[in-house]
Order: sequence, then C-alpha cells, then structure tokens
Amino acid sequence: MIRRALLLSICVVGFLPALARAEWVSRIEDGIMGTRISVEVWHEKSDTAHAGIAAVMEEMKRIDREMSTYKPDSEISRVNAQAAKAPIKIGAELFELLKTSIEYSELSDGAFDITYASVGFMYDFHARQKPTDAQIATALPAVNFRHIVLDAKNRTVRFTHPNVRIDLGGIGKGHAVDRGIEILKSRGFEHALVTAGGDSRIIGDRFGKPWIIGIRHPDDKKRVIAKIPLVDTAISTSGDYERFFDEGGTRYHHIIDPRTGRSARGVRSTTILAPTATRTDGLSKTAFVLGAEAAMKIYNKLDDVDAILVTPEGKVLYSKGIESAQPAR
Ligand code: ADP
Ligand code: MG
Repeated sequence: MIRRALLLSICVVGFLPALARAEWVSRIEDGIMGTRISVEVWHEKSDTAHAGIAAVMEEMKRIDREMSTYKPDSEISRVNAQAAKAPIKIGAELFELLKTSIEYSELSDGAFDITYASVGFMYDFHARQKPTDAQIATALPAVNFRHIVLDAKNRTVRFTHPNVRIDLGGIGKGHAVDRGIEILKSRGFEHALVTAGGDSRIIGDRFGKPWIIGIRHPDDKKRVIAKIPLVDTAISTSGDYERFFDEGGTRYHHIIDPRTGRSARGVRSTTILAPTATRTDGLSKTAFVLGAEAAMKIYNKLDDVDAILVTPEGKVLYSKGIESAQPAR
C-alpha cells in the first residue's frame, strides 16, 4: 500500500514539470478589420505560443490593409475606384476571394452579394445615417453580383455597371480566420481558437473536451440561448444587434438585402457551423435575406453545414444535423 502510494507520488512529481511547461496562451486585439481579434493556443513552449499568436495578428493586419474599403490605398479600394472603367489586375488572394464570394452568391440565391456595398456605403450605423428612398432607388441597379466579371487568365476584375462598389465585410473575417488557422497548423499547433468578430475556427479540443461556444440572445447579451460543444470546426454568428441603430420603432442594421437595399429582416440571428470560417461567414447572411424557411432548405442541402436560427418571433430553429444530434425530449 505504502509502496503504491509512494510510487504514485513519484509519478505525480515526475509528471508535474512537463504539465507546468505546457500552457494556454491567449491574446485579444481590438481595431483590426474594425473588430476584436482573439487567439488562444495551447503549446508546450510559451515562446512558440506567443510567436504563433503574433504571426496570426500580423496576418490579420495584412489582410485588413489589402481588403478594407475604409483604407483608400487598399487593393480593394483601387478596384472600387477603377474597375468600372477597365479590367483591373489584382493579386491571387483577392482574386480567389472574389471568386469564392460569387460562388456564395450563387449558392444563396443572391442573398450573399458583395455588391450590396453599392447601396451599403450610404449607411453609417455609428452616426445613425441611412440613405433616403430616392438614394436607394438610384443606387440599387448597381447591386448585383453578375456585374462582377473575373478573368482568370489575366487575373483581372471588371464591373459592368458604372456605380458598382464591393465590400468584403461579409466574408473577409472568415477568410482571415482561416488564414490564421493555416499559420498555426503550419507551426505545429494542435489546439487553438481564432476569432475575428463573429467568425471563429477551432483546431482540436480543449483539455480533451470540446470547446463550448455560447450563442447569445438577440436582445440580451448576457443570456445564452444555446451552448454548442465543438471540435475541429468553424462557427459564425450574424446578428441584427451587432451594428445598428433604432429609429421610429425600426431597426436599421448592417446586413443588407440586395433586392431592396434595406436592412434584411428574415431572422434576428444566424449561427452556421461548417469546416471553414470562409464558408460559415459566406453563409451566415443568407437567412437574414431569404428568411428562415428558404434559408434552412439551402443549409439542409449542404452536407457539411449546420445552422441555428433565431426568427423575428424569437423561435430557435435547428438544421437537420443538429436536430438529430439533440437528445430526445
Ligand atoms: P461580422 O462583421 O461581425 O463578421 P457578419 O458576418 O454578419 O458580421 O457580416 C456583416 C457584414 O457583411 C456587414 O457589415 C457588411 O459589411 C456585409 N454585408 C451586409 N449585407 C451583405 C450581403 N447581403 N451580402 C454580403 N455581405 C453583406
Ligand atoms: Mg462575419
């Protein structure tokens, strides 16, 4: 008995230094891509952990520099200024992301559309500004992803309507999260979480258990409507409570219906689960525009996608995959 106890204590002592060396390291930075970036990693070497996180933050800043429409010298601002006049040569990364954006437009029946910005640029939710009906009517014909013409051979983009503007606010953060995860994987990380605003992706588990991500109530950020256990997946939540102002009983928020140029009212929030954050980000606007029923049909057709929707009436709806994973009630 004593010998066993002794053996046990030796084991514990022998094991502890190894455990103490490995640790979770996390860092949060505000203001990149106009949002909060958070990176959490597990690594045996603290230096490696910190260097990995720094590399992810640098990558987020690089993507922000190149893909932000708020930066006049970004690659995308150059496209917006010139692509209606002539085909513009762009880098491979932006070209691929534009191609992916058009794929999500097609997949979502036009709900996801980066040309929303042709009207969207007139909203300033912080300053409580919105376009007039006349301004919307004038700008709306420019909203249509079919106005974006990509030429893969010459790697150029051209707009076929003079007033088109594009904005990657609905997919850029997902792309940046995926790039962050690729960097961490290439450096050997096996347990990590990268988040940019509403878009996150996870590698591995946390202490042998799933990561638990909560979905908040649209009207009360302290109230959690669902907790989901996750391993090796991406998750995005879009909500009408993220960037908005209320006026005369109406909520004006940042997800725009490409058909009307006005805030989309199909749901209050959408959470999407899928293998990559580009995919979850690209699909999380769909239900706002198409409404819960039509969007759920699209989500349920995609084998690698799950969805949790909160309807305008506050009902929580789950896609087929999640419903079947719920314990019987
Ligand atoms: P977050 O910015 O927190 O990731 P979302 O993923 O919900 O939030 O994306 C919202 C952003 O998507 C808006 O701020 C805007 O830049 C962009 N957007 C708005 N409407 C559309 C749309 N119909 N299609 C594509 N992008 C859109
Ligand atoms: Mg997003």
